[in-house]
Amino acid sequence: MPEPTEPIDTSEQAARQQDAADPGHRELFHVPPAPAGAYPEAAYLAGNSLGLQPKATRGELLADLDAWAEQAVAAHLVGNRPWLPYHEPLTEPAARLVGALPAETVVMNSLTVNLHLLMVSFYRPAGDRTRILIENHAFPSDSYAVRSQVRFHGLDPDQTVVRLAPRPGEHTLRAEDVVDYLHREGDRVALVLLGAVNYLTGELHDIPAVTAAGRAAGATVGWDLAHAAGNVPLRMHDWDADFAAWCSYKYLNAGPGAAAGVFVHQRHLGDSSLPRFEGWWSTEPATRFEMAPVSRPPATAEAWQISNPPIFSMGPVRTSLSIFDKIGMSALRERSLQLTGYLERLLDALAPAVPIVTPRDPARRGAQLSLRVAGADRLADRLRDGYGVIADAREPDILRLAPAPLYATYHDCWRAATALGDLR
Ligand SMILES: *Cc1c(COP(=O)(O)O)cnc(C)c1O
Repeated sequence: MPEPTEPIDTSEQAARQQDAADPGHRELFHVPPAPAGAYPEAAYLAGNSLGLQPKATRGELLADLDAWAEQAVAAHLVGNRPWLPYHEPLTEPAARLVGALPAETVVMNSLTVNLHLLMVSFYRPAGDRTRILIENHAFPSDSYAVRSQVRFHGLDPDQTVVRLAPRPGEHTLRAEDVVDYLHREGDRVALVLLGAVNYLTGELHDIPAVTAAGRAAGATVGWDLAHAAGNVPLRMHDWDADFAAWCSYKYLNAGPGAAAGVFVHQRHLGDSSLPRFEGWWSTEPATRFEMAPVSRPPATAEAWQISNPPIFSMGPVRTSLSIFDKIGMSALRERSLQLTGYLERLLDALAPAVPIVTPRDPARRGAQLSLRVAGADRLADRLRDGYGVIADAREPDILRLAPAPLYATYHDCWRAATALGDLR
């Protein structure tokens, strides 16, 4: 039985009071102006899609542009952040963010590219063990990626990609159903690849339980952390996943197309039997420029790198990670639980006709609440154009609201819930 809760104070003043008591870190960010409504700033609840720009990012980017203007080719080696090893100082903060060892982590490329590079190593169909297990409501890019990997191995994606769906009448996958599938069919499964926080429903999976079941069944287990990194505390090393990948432009606020991150568990580092695609950044730096070289990959996740880093997509990652390092994921999660819980209670009170499909248990979700509503895209337009509330709609009938805990406010939540109450 849920605890009986106090009736919520739905007044604007109560929202303002909570903001005074728990102000967050909004001052570090550019908050866009409201396109409409009674307040100057947008109530930005789409940080799960594109995070806001940290004010410090511009200066970081300009410093890299200045290095190019002033040093040109020498900037590969000189200055306070030379380009050749540019990814190196990002490794430790990225590792802290996902609960990995530094050797297990590298910032590179973009998310789907990295999923492919990791599947080259970790999707190895053989004999009867060919299947890839994903969620029925996996993010589209992940679906396309796994289907193309299956075809790359000469297999039929319709037979080989298994899409696990929630039980009839339910919105989210139960961990016990995933585990049960792995107990029953696990000897046919080559790879389990789930979104740690589902992009559509906001469900946070039981990463340790699913990972343990997948590995016990002899499958490799990878996690897409796109909606989890910077949203919920993670311990990828201890949870024993084989690999993970995430993007940096959602909760991490590193800007559109920013360089992404990968995790490869220690047990795979230095394993020369794993196939990998290589380039000059896959080898020990000392051998990078050799003539007719044979690669000597380092026993770290850097062995999965291929190309030299895209500096202007990496600088904003540095700014982002330094914010997370300063504040810490556990403090951020604490604030996130408060904000999302507040939004949930307001929605229940003010817009009760719109069902929330995200799990009600705060331990099973991050900062996002998903509402199931016909015409979600029109509703998102009306929230923006009438109230300055920025939400987003996803096919076929989901409206997502994500109070990202770095910069969203209790007042933003109040604006969204009162606007939805008006519109429904
Ligand atoms: C956002 C997101 C992506 C986006 O992929 P890119 O390669 O960065 O374009 C992929 N998968 C998931 C689960 C996502 O949430």
